[in-house]
Amino acid sequence: MGDSLIRHVDPWQDAAHGACYKGNLDVGRLPRLSTIAELNTPLQVSVSFHRGHEAEKHGAVEIELVAQGRLDMVCQRCLGALAVELALQVSVGVVSGEAAARLSKPLGDSIVSPPGERLDIASVVEDEVLLAMPFAPAHSPGTCAVQCVEQNEIRSPC
Ligand SMILES: [Zn+2]
Repeated sequence: MGDSLIRHVDPWQDAAHGACYKGNLDVGRLPRLSTIAELNTPLQVSVSFHRGHEAEKHGAVEIELVAQGRLDMVCQRCLGALAVELALQVSVGVVSGEAAARLSKPLGDSIVSPPGERLDIASVVEDEVLLAMPFAPAHSPGTCAVQCVEQNEIRSPC
């Protein structure tokens, strides 16, 4: 088991230094995720901060986020246990205020965090993991206890 991931970051300062942090996030720091999946082993996370090319135009910084782990979920077809391997790699923009957030629309969703303010990095990771989660996780056909009915086998009601 590695060390726990740093709790609070200042993305602006970290981007200026090109900082990178690695560590684990356990279930205690991912309260929303733990309501939809069981996390029996901590997520392995690495976050690095830099001024992105596109982002720099808008005075923003970018967080490169990599998260790996195993989530224990429930198959939505047979309701049996289902392990979902998580391998997430995303880039998240950080802007200083709401006005900058509107300007950076082409970057997609950005986090608003003014310079000097500390950001809870676990909650940023959790947001991204939740977005990446399958909406209705299920075993692949053939391994599921409930067999899929092929489309052409479904009888029309009339
Ligand atoms: Zn299943």
